Amino acid sequence: MAFVFLLVPLWLCASNTPTVLTTSAGNAMVIVLFGAPGVGKGTQAQLLSRRFGIPHLSTGEVLRQAIREGSPLGSQVRHYVENGLLVPDELVTALVEQALASSQYQNGCILDGFPRTVAQAQALDELLHRQGRSVDIVINLVVAEEEIIRRLLLRGRPDDTEAVIRQRLHVYAEQTQPVLDYYASRNKLYTVDGNADIETVHQRIVQLVLQRVPA
Ligand code: ADP
Repeated sequence: MAFVFLLVPLWLCASNTPTVLTTSAGNAMVIVLFGAPGVGKGTQAQLLSRRFGIPHLSTGEVLRQAIREGSPLGSQVRHYVENGLLVPDELVTALVEQALASSQYQNGCILDGFPRTVAQAQALDELLHRQGRSVDIVINLVVAEEEIIRRLLLRGRPDDTEAVIRQRLHVYAEQTQPVLDYYASRNKLYTVDGNADIETVHQRIVQLVLQRVPA
């Protein structure tokens, strides 16, 4: 009897252990969560991070934190973030390169909000190549525009006023959407319908990621 009591917690423990995601080259996975502002990238990145035990890097969050702290980076980027414009590529790319080189991300990474331009996508490929890895899968979350605006107005972040949201959607269409072709032509792009509840969308993403993990 005591034996069973010992086994059950062990089994529960094992079943909660996140699947370690490795690529065919044996490296930890690099997952990109892609999509317009408000499609739920941040929420899904957090769930995916917990599900697979891989840390999540949100460039928007890093930039907002720098602004809150009033750091030199914060004062450099404040104008862009508050007006719904993209922070210059070199600045964001340097920030991501530095983060990815740290030990925290050696077991994989979920990128949210980066890359946002074709130049950033190219820079990401180059910097990962230098570290002997590459982007494994890009998940494009798609949600109807009226729903996006509704969600962002509910969220109420300082850059979530209607005028700034419209500007961010415009910037997305002009500068970020072309990144989809970049990854589609490299067979890395998968689209997920984000017009569903959080858990349903999460399960859709998990299925896609698991398909990319070599048996
Ligand atoms: P959302 O997806 O809701 O737009 P984010 O948190 O991803 O929110 O980004 C907020 C803001 O941070 C953007 O509008 C932009 O000013 C800046 N930003 C975030 N990531 C990048 C990036 N990769 N390149 C340039 N600017 C960025």
